[in-house]
Amino acid sequence: MVMDLNKCIGCQTCTVACKRLWTRREGMKHQWWNTVNSQPGTGTPHGWENMGGGFKNGVAQAGHRPTVDEYGKAWEFNYQDVFYGGKDHVPLTPVDGDADKGPNWDEDIGAGDYPNGYYFYLPRICNHCTKPACLAACPRKAIDKREEDGIVLIDEDKCRGYRFCQEACPYKKIYYNETLGISQKCIFCFPRIDEGVTTACSRQCPGRVRFVGYLDDPDGPIYKLVHEHKIALPLHPEYGTQPNVFYVPPMSPPTLDKNGVATDKPRIPMEYLVSLFGPEVEEVLDRLQKERERVAQGEKSEMLDLLISRKWLDMFGPFDKHPREVGGNPVQMVTPGVMTGKGGVA
Ligand code: SF4
Ligand code: SF4
Repeated sequence: MVMDLNKCIGCQTCTVACKRLWTRREGMKHQWWNTVNSQPGTGTPHGWENMGGGFKNGVAQAGHRPTVDEYGKAWEFNYQDVFYGGKDHVPLTPVDGDADKGPNWDEDIGAGDYPNGYYFYLPRICNHCTKPACLAACPRKAIDKREEDGIVLIDEDKCRGYRFCQEACPYKKIYYNETLGISQKCIFCFPRIDEGVTTACSRQCPGRVRFVGYLDDPDGPIYKLVHEHKIALPLHPEYGTQPNVFYVPPMSPPTLDKNGVATDKPRIPMEYLVSLFGPEVEEVLDRLQKERERVAQGEKSEMLDLLISRKWLDMFGPFDKHPREVGGNPVQMVTPGVMTGKGGVA
């Protein structure tokens, strides 16, 4: 997957599409396999970038095991009073008292001082890494990377809930289900992918942020963005897991001087972007800027046409079927309990 951060509007439609489809079973209230956070920020789980895991010089690192509190509990709200209580002007409020963290806690806070404040949205899912630290850490061999497409899956029948995968994943994209005693994570909508239907998060995204396809398909959008145009980079490549989710980095408005005049200094500090996407980010932003300037001169650009995604379905490579085309319930698509890879399309 490639996500173009210049188009994400932080609407959380992807988050809800994923929640609606996959994480409504027992013990999954706190699970948000897709999250969208404002950057700079603490992210989900809070402070995940400092929790360790991944590989250092090829050696696996055991990191911190995030708690439900660090992910942010699902709050209970006073719906009864607001909608049925017969009282006027009751605001919607969490009622469980300790609602002091959430999966998108620092929304739109960002950094920088007026008039040069800045933030951007960072959607995250499991990166379905080429070298998955979660898989390497599991003594039960309950985690597999599918040969045909590289999707990383946890077999819920084999998992015994030891949670070494949670410690090992440097992106902290594995959740523990206390009720079922198993670890769970994004399955890249594999029952849809198997039928030629793209993931729910990408299909529902109103910003046309998410491209889906194979990294080695020269005619597909992922190959073009990552290898041909070289404008998409993995998040925190230094964690050593070789992620397969790539990002087109955010372009910046200029900072304003004290007279309100635009300078040539970008508002998002380059050091910050380098800390997220590695040193190549500077070159990528330069390439994007030059291409914009070329188009402003009236020239054509395959790169920008691809990023603009005028033809929506072209964003999904071979996964361009409508859910209805493959039968079954177009929203649900799968039978409950399909996560192990043994179920089928309903
Ligand atoms: S992001 Fe984490 S959970 Fe997903 S494949 Fe990589 S190491 Fe495993
Ligand atoms: S649905 Fe698209 S635009 Fe909205 S938050 Fe998700 S990635 Fe961003």
